[in-house]
Amino acid sequence: MSALHDRHRAVLMPWHAQSKAHGGPAFNAGEGCFLIEESGNRIFDFSSGWIAANLGHGHPRLIKAIADQAARLYYAPPIFVNDTRAELAARLSDLSPWPDGARVHFTSGGGEANDDAIKAARMITGRHKILAAYRSYHGTTGGASGATGDMRRWPNEPSSYPAVRFFAPYPYRSPFHTDDPDEEVRRAMDHLDRIVTQEGAHNIAALLIEPMVGSSGLIRYPDGYLDALRRFTEERGILLIFDEVMTGFGRVGAAFAAERFQVAPDMIVFAKGVNGAAIPLGGLMIREGVARHFDDTVFDAGHTHAGHPIAMASGVAALDAYEQGGLFTRARALEDRFRDRLTDLRQRHAVVGDIRGAGAFWGIELVRDRATKEPLVPWYAKDASLNYRLTERMLQDGNWVYARYGILMLAPPLIVTDEELDAAMAQLSRSLTWLESQI
Ligand code: PLP
Repeated sequence: MSALHDRHRAVLMPWHAQSKAHGGPAFNAGEGCFLIEESGNRIFDFSSGWIAANLGHGHPRLIKAIADQAARLYYAPPIFVNDTRAELAARLSDLSPWPDGARVHFTSGGGEANDDAIKAARMITGRHKILAAYRSYHGTTGGASGATGDMRRWPNEPSSYPAVRFFAPYPYRSPFHTDDPDEEVRRAMDHLDRIVTQEGAHNIAALLIEPMVGSSGLIRYPDGYLDALRRFTEERGILLIFDEVMTGFGRVGAAFAAERFQVAPDMIVFAKGVNGAAIPLGGLMIREGVARHFDDTVFDAGHTHAGHPIAMASGVAALDAYEQGGLFTRARALEDRFRDRLTDLRQRHAVVGDIRGAGAFWGIELVRDRATKEPLVPWYAKDASLNYRLTERMLQDGNWVYARYGILMLAPPLIVTDEELDAAMAQLSRSLTWLESQI
């Protein structure tokens, strides 16, 4: 263990028992699609960190914007007018899926933004409950953790926000006992309808959902599901909130999943890709017609760092970089390459049970047996050590891949070249060969 690792023990590492948390690689530098170890070894960032560094590392445009803004003005409280803040909000409104635009509230990250989205929905509707999917992650702050479906909410229960959960489609392991996608959607909606009837639609402020599930399984919903949710919520006066913290800013091959899947919610929660994670930044866009509620009613939320000028400058620079690089279109074009390469990987490795995704956001679900679909590591397993060993092995083979319970999330920076992607796929194939020797 290096002197740095030893010194690092003063950091309380998230999501880990501390005795096991400080042994991984040290990354003190990065360049393009690579994280660089102390030794100079370059690791391909196949997951953009935690699906966040969409512009890679050391992007010159981001660095310059941050430095310039810091020199001019690095802080002004969010209640004052500020040029950079105005610029980013207006640009986001233009990028939003709504023809009449949006009003934007800024936060420091995705969890906070989900909390504020829930608050806003409750203020707007006067209703108190929130609907959320079991396979979901919305953050670790109070409201977001209360809405989260997966086990990361357990330590914070009960939440002060009454969330009612439902099962959403999961075509590979259908909770609705069908392998017909249309039937899956019909049964999922019937299930939701029963829940809402029991809860009272008039009590429900919003339905919060990741339009493509991220870290709770990387699930792409069958066609028609998001549409059906839109109709269902509209008919009942329930606001529809898309948590696009992972899917936003080109990740799925369009500005937002809302655009990619052609379903306009009432609010979009964002973070991560908004500025390629260069500075903590998140936020909430509320469609203009809905946001008008706050014209004469107080919007009762705010944070010291909301709309922080340096974060705003990094956001504007990131939007410029996405635009000038044509990166949303590039992500869409990467979809075919991903499908091709992953289909090939599935043919060569029996451990690959399912592949799914959109744009530059793909999941591999690993199984012990393709016929029975026995998971590599059961969801919520107490012993997920094979998952950790696989992560270590992938690092040794040259890739950082964010893996949860045998589901790999592939989401490289959108600046990735075809050659870099192919090289990373070859490295991944070597890791899967190793994995097959372990089970
Ligand atoms: N929502 C989704 C879909 C996420 O994936 C995450 C984090 O991974 C969050 C919300 C929480 O964002 P943050 O970690 O910035 O609070």
